[in-house]
Amino acid sequence: MKILKLKLHWQILIALVLAVLFGYFIPTAVVYVSWMGDIFLRALKMVIIPLIFSSIISGVTSMGEGKNLGRLGLKTLTYYLATSTLAILTGLIIVNLVKPGVGVDLGFSQSVEGLADKAGSVKDILYRLIPENIVDAMAQGTILSVIFFAILFGYFITTVDKKYKDSLTTFFDAIFEVMMKITLFIIKFTPLGIFGIVAKEVARNADQLVNIAGSLAIYGLCVVTGLLIHAFISLPLIVHFIGKAKPFTHFRNMATPLLTAFSTSSSSATLPLTMEALEHKSGVSNKVTSFTLPLGATINMDGTALYECVAAMFIAQAYGVDLSFTQQALVVFTALLASIGAAGIPMAGLVMITVVLTAIGLPLEGIGLILAVDRILDMLRTSVNVWSDSCGAVIIARSEKEETKVAI
Ligand code: ASP
Repeated sequence: MKILKLKLHWQILIALVLAVLFGYFIPTAVVYVSWMGDIFLRALKMVIIPLIFSSIISGVTSMGEGKNLGRLGLKTLTYYLATSTLAILTGLIIVNLVKPGVGVDLGFSQSVEGLADKAGSVKDILYRLIPENIVDAMAQGTILSVIFFAILFGYFITTVDKKYKDSLTTFFDAIFEVMMKITLFIIKFTPLGIFGIVAKEVARNADQLVNIAGSLAIYGLCVVTGLLIHAFISLPLIVHFIGKAKPFTHFRNMATPLLTAFSTSSSSATLPLTMEALEHKSGVSNKVTSFTLPLGATINMDGTALYECVAAMFIAQAYGVDLSFTQQALVVFTALLASIGAAGIPMAGLVMITVVLTAIGLPLEGIGLILAVDRILDMLRTSVNVWSDSCGAVIIARSEKEETKVAI
């Protein structure tokens, strides 16, 4: 078949277009294809924990001494916090200029029951880092805990007797190689998986796609504009000037993970593909990707951060609340925390808005205003989350004097 000879990202694009048409025009037939999406997502989730675990250990042991780890950690966190804050400020400026929420009708159409229970606090985020039981954390897919344990494990491998150190290092390197092979195999099925996922979502949301109008559309456009500015202006400039790398070549290399992030709305599910593209296409070493990407997929969410800020400001405007400078600063700070605390799964960002709303004393029902457009905005913000993680990996690799395949 000719279509199989096309590059993977073209196959995915074709699958996306066909899925939208399929889901929109024959929604009743979606049950016959949605299983492909479910199986694809299951397969991705299947590899995440062993992939992260072996990759971090293999990365940390290859770093050598603890000093290296500290330096890399500091750089990574600085990048994550700086770009997320930049994204939030971009959103804040737009939402203050456009004021999409002023004059919005507060007749809520959807209920938000139960959302408040799911809100996370700063303490929860810290607690999630240290698992009570690592096997349980792995089984539950609590990625932050797994990362923490893997970093400790990798670090202490480097401190034991050479005999043990060598065999453990080889062992985890070998597991990592195999996990990458399995990932590559799953990636081949991305177009089919994406077809199943997108057709199902389009069929489910078809009426809303048509009904979204008025203020909600303007609000959505504010988020989208902010995301586009961050993805196509701010991040490329940082990659160019700080990373001394070619942002648009790198963007092309990232086509498959970005389209997958868009279709699945999950940074975590996309992680295996992000790692593969960075290592094999953009030429970043495993030492850097294994450390930065799993961490990034859970805590670095520029798109989500921007979205939290715009959404909270929109709700405040709709309630006629004029936020002072200090309150807006609180929005920026809590939006940053909310993006760090959001899991890399669909709609996690929507739940985390409760953190921001509570901080500035707005009713949680306000979320009802933005539910209708959340799905589509989730797709876009997830792509921006993954794009920022990948830019971070390139910048850090370049700062570690790696040549990579995207250097200027
Ligand atoms: N879906 C997003 C992600 O996985 C999180 C969010 O809902 O903002 O990156």
